[in-house]
Amino acid sequence: IKNLIIFGTRPEAIKMAPLVKEFQKHSDKFETKVCITAQHREMLDQVLDFFEIKPDFDLDLMKPNQNLYQLTADIITNLKPVLDDFRPDYVYVHGDTTTTMASSLAAFYSGAKICHVEAGLRTFNLKSPFPEEMNRSVTGVISNLHFAPTSNSKNNLLKENKVESDIIVTGNTVIDALLFSVKKVNSDEFVDSEVLRLKPFLDDSKRLILVTGHRRENHGQGFINICKALKQIALENPNVQIVYPVHLNPNVQKPVYDLLANIENIILIDPLSYPAFVWLMEKSYLIITDSGGVQEEAPSLGKPVLVMRDTTERPEAVDAGTVLLVGTNTDKIIQETTKLLGDEKIYGHMGKLHNPYGDGLACKTIVQHISSLNK
Ligand code: UDP
Repeated sequence: IKNLIIFGTRPEAIKMAPLVKEFQKHSDKFETKVCITAQHREMLDQVLDFFEIKPDFDLDLMKPNQNLYQLTADIITNLKPVLDDFRPDYVYVHGDTTTTMASSLAAFYSGAKICHVEAGLRTFNLKSPFPEEMNRSVTGVISNLHFAPTSNSKNNLLKENKVESDIIVTGNTVIDALLFSVKKVNSDEFVDSEVLRLKPFLDDSKRLILVTGHRRENHGQGFINICKALKQIALENPNVQIVYPVHLNPNVQKPVYDLLANIENIILIDPLSYPAFVWLMEKSYLIITDSGGVQEEAPSLGKPVLVMRDTTERPEAVDAGTVLLVGTNTDKIIQETTKLLGDEKIYGHMGKLHNPYGDGLACKTIVQHISSLNK
């Protein structure tokens, strides 16, 4: 059985890497190849190195100031020879990026069966100016198998009249990736140049708040409000260190460096490679983020998360109480952070809750399912 696993950005790579590894364990049954579109180049390669994955096809499509028209067209046309040549039975795509949507379209034209990993997340706002909801919905329409992380995402798909037997609840593959990485990061052989560079700046007597943010909906006033909150938190809590790996997008870099440079207990650094980031998540007291993946990972490490968004396609985390939506309201971010810093009871409770995104067996479940269809 021939598998082609396609991805293009860092979060997709992190979430698909454990699936590649799981299929590779079953090479007697599956011939599995990896194709990267490299929609995001630099951060993707680091992930591939860490998981020791060599792509079989590299479309290398990252261009400066790329627009979605060109990227979509490039992905489809560049995938044609790959699909014609390898003729996969199954094509695996992940989540909600342009790579996901365009690759699933190309796979549809090739006649391969499309498997959508992290299927069924919805904001139900197709009129949003941002493409994620369209990407995941279109992919859902043409997918043959939907690997849904939770029963909530399964229900979203049932409401769209997808066939129930084509939906498999697996947990999120990010937990598989995280557990693999935690083990590696905590082993004696682990040496990481980014961690070594960071260590002298960290004061173990202080509580560490880890911050990440990149979403387009927060560009502009959103990031200004976020930075104002972080500044006040840092100034009011000298016993706290804020470590912020700043996303490379200029819309993020500008407000962050304008407003937060030169504050003693705020450490601004470049985005970290995945192992260094996992190491830092483990060391942190709490995490403030707008990232989807981080809110899925952090509960497995017992870390409370404040999410800088007003809406979410991940309501399970909010319902489970492992994350709290604070939007980009300066006062609300300060208020909830202060609560978690000051109230051991609230902090302890939030950190002990069960992670609704599973226990790290998602990829095994996916491979078992595909095997069971091909006995
Ligand atoms: N991450 C990383 N380095 C960083 C920040 C995040 O490796 O400096 C990881 C994080 O652990 C998570 C993923 O990248 O698995 C999330 O990526 P991102 O926030 O870019 O995207 P999203 O999850 O919102 O799609």
